[in-house]
Amino acid sequence: MIKLGIIGDPIERSRSPALHSWVLQHLGIAGEYRAYCVRGDDLENFLETHRELVGFNVTIPHKESIVRHLDGLSHEAYLIGAVNTVKSEHKRLVGYNTDSIGFLRTLQTRDLFPKQAIILGAGGAARAVAYALLQIGTSSLTIFNRTPSRAWQLTHDLRQHFQESAISVESDPCVLMDALCHADLVVNATPAPMPIVLPQRLSSGALVYDLTYNPLKSDFLKEAERRGAQICNGLDMLIYQALESLKIWLGRSDLENAMEIEGLKKFLEELL
Ligand code: NAP
Repeated sequence: MIKLGIIGDPIERSRSPALHSWVLQHLGIAGEYRAYCVRGDDLENFLETHRELVGFNVTIPHKESIVRHLDGLSHEAYLIGAVNTVKSEHKRLVGYNTDSIGFLRTLQTRDLFPKQAIILGAGGAARAVAYALLQIGTSSLTIFNRTPSRAWQLTHDLRQHFQESAISVESDPCVLMDALCHADLVVNATPAPMPIVLPQRLSSGALVYDLTYNPLKSDFLKEAERRGAQICNGLDMLIYQALESLKIWLGRSDLENAMEIEGLKKFLEELL
């Protein structure tokens, strides 16, 4: 029986246990996937006392802080500076990042290659999204965060690896409004239902993407829709990052061929 899970705080609203249980059952794999509420000051203790887990996901607020507790990192997790997937490999805890590929997959399904993007937030998810966008050639990336110093740190880290793109922090709401009017992608990578007020007019064809999936249509997405933007919630990303995590834990690269993704999506939508 394979033992998996997710750690975070809060964790009650996560749909990862339902998602992973559905997939394990669908694949005929005996296993369990449990949610563990782990506070920041209990992270180290959790890692020491849950060695029975083959792997686990990591969510808010531990994606960055867990890095220093792990025995190794994938190249991508190292570059991103955040981990959402941990695998126990010969008693060593190794961190991976599947948020980035999960996010990229959702852009690919829409055939999107944004040139000017804005990310709201500078935590673990924002790091993964920024890395994914810069990898596919986004030429102008603006980061806005409630705590500007964290946005500056993220910008500094990204500039080490992506010298070709213009990466900036915006703290002035007026200048941010102007950038929003010209962006072809705006990503909410915070749990806030309305992290900023959107301008009346967005760029034609702009996509407003909220990484939240619970509710399926956040206040932010509702406002974006009223302003004529395309909208996308975090459900597809949740599915793709989860499948990538399972590939790592189970060592099965063929996993998606064995999956009925639309059936899984429908199952999750009915839960929300
Ligand atoms: P994190 O590392 O803890 O970062 C949280 C970010 O949100 C920080 O930038 C924080 O700003 C900001 N924030 C928190 N509360 C805020 C508020 N009330 N107003 C404005 N900003 C606020 O968390 P994370 O792992 O990046 O997750 C961020 C969000 O993305 C969560 O809602 C998570 O569920 C979602 N997510 C979804 C998927 C998916 O597959 N769909 C994957 C990953 C994450 P400060 O720096 O000022 O604290």
